[in-house]
Amino acid sequence: MKEIHHWIDGKEAEGGSGRFADVFNPATGEVQAKVALARKDELDAAVASAAKAQLGWGATNPQRRARVMMKFVDLLNRDMDKLAEALSAEHGKTFPDAKGDVQRGLEVIEFCIGAPHLLKGEYTDSAGTGIDMYSMRQPLGVVAGITPFNFPAMIPLWKMGPALAAGNAMILKPSERDPSVPLMLAALLKEAGLPDGVLQVVNGDKESVDAILDNPVIQAVGFVGSTPIAQYIYERATANGKRAQCFGGAKNHMIIMPDADLDQAADALVGAGFGAAGERCMAISVAVPVGEETADALIEKLVPRIEKLKVGPYTAGDDVDYGPVVTKAAMENIRRLVQTGIDQGAELVVDGRDFALQGYEDGFFVGPHLFDRVTPDMDIYRTEIFGPVLSTVRAGSYEEAIGLAMDHEYGNGTAIFTRDGDTARDFANRINIGMVGINVPIPVPLAYHTFGGWKKSGFGDLNQHGPDAFRFYTRTKTVTARWPSGIKEGGEFNFKAMD
Ligand code: NAD
Repeated sequence: MKEIHHWIDGKEAEGGSGRFADVFNPATGEVQAKVALARKDELDAAVASAAKAQLGWGATNPQRRARVMMKFVDLLNRDMDKLAEALSAEHGKTFPDAKGDVQRGLEVIEFCIGAPHLLKGEYTDSAGTGIDMYSMRQPLGVVAGITPFNFPAMIPLWKMGPALAAGNAMILKPSERDPSVPLMLAALLKEAGLPDGVLQVVNGDKESVDAILDNPVIQAVGFVGSTPIAQYIYERATANGKRAQCFGGAKNHMIIMPDADLDQAADALVGAGFGAAGERCMAISVAVPVGEETADALIEKLVPRIEKLKVGPYTAGDDVDYGPVVTKAAMENIRRLVQTGIDQGAELVVDGRDFALQGYEDGFFVGPHLFDRVTPDMDIYRTEIFGPVLSTVRAGSYEEAIGLAMDHEYGNGTAIFTRDGDTARDFANRINIGMVGINVPIPVPLAYHTFGGWKKSGFGDLNQHGPDAFRFYTRTKTVTARWPSGIKEGGEFNFKAMD
């Protein structure tokens, strides 16, 4: 059985805990590898070594650090197919979707090539007579990234790019479900010129996460995953005096106004609801058509599109719309929630429960489901299902529709489909959700903007990537400087204004 270990001090390092987690092939249900789970003392040793490496890396000029990122971009492009293949094999998403996962991470590394500009700081000439004042952005030291299974390339890249370009060392604790790609990224960064020890990839579970949260050397924690864990990590990290940004789960609503292009809306819903088997934090899981007529017409357009979806293993290439979900536990949880929808009175318009794929009977495949007449009290509405299940909640008016999205505890992404500029503008201004699409179903901001949800979808006050990431991974020091100028005023004992 293949064993996957850690990346410490510039090379693969065998774990010593004797504890392992299974890494599945989600298409067949077989265990294809075992990943080592680090002990607390292994994590602490990786941190101590990273702290030493950070001293030199933090003192390296920003342009040289940016050149490592530049080379890293070349290597990511060179190895794109290899990375996507490894990603699909452990995650189960289709090959083109896996390339998108790498690509969206790569774009953040491209953005990080501009780190020297983002780290320039501020300068005031002659803040007082003979006095200059300047603010520097300095790295924090050793920081940590804890990442989820659903984007095993993109999210580690979102974490490591800005953290490293800003001069920090990073401990990356990837998801134990699909750990291979983060290790490949670490090897590519070494090839790009990153000094040993500046990026340590430590595989593990709660034991290593808690070791991160309690290690006094680690200055900041960037987390992405489910909401209960996000909240736990935020609370424990901040209680220990660390900076933390923790992004959680989602329940993204798409409002379809009566004037929307319904074919466009239906196409968008199918892609955004079922792409990656619904295992995206920006997936649309709730469709909210406004008015009975809109709802009836939309359902009529959705049903044939959903029934046509092709579900299969990533090895089938472009011939598959989405693949299996990540684990058997995930599959069973989705099935359980679908059953609650039926039991609680929602109308199952497309029933994927009997889906089976010849030759892949033990794979974690879930057929597509469409529910109509879902109400806000149902479990399928309140809970993040994270599977290929789209719920339709019929709203009587625009106000009712926007109210639904605003009252939901999650606030990651949302979208409105309309031809009316006033409605779209009102929606974008009023909605209490972090990322908004107007006739765009998955409004993931590009690398030079920032990504982050509101409400229970995000804890902490700065977003991922874009300028916020450089604010998160640096701290400001402000220097007030006076050089001898020949002016001799004698001692000054009062706290006086610089005029
Ligand atoms: P998860 O919360 O189970 O795991 C995320 C990370 O936390 C992993 O590294 C895991 O090892 C660790 N972890 C799990 N349980 C832990 C515990 N009890 N104590 C300490 N650490 C623990 O999430 P997942 O299933 O890997 O990912 C899916 C979730 O991530 C979904 O809820 C999805 O919406 C969310 N997500 C959010 C965003 C966003 O930007 N808001 C992006 C992607 C995914």
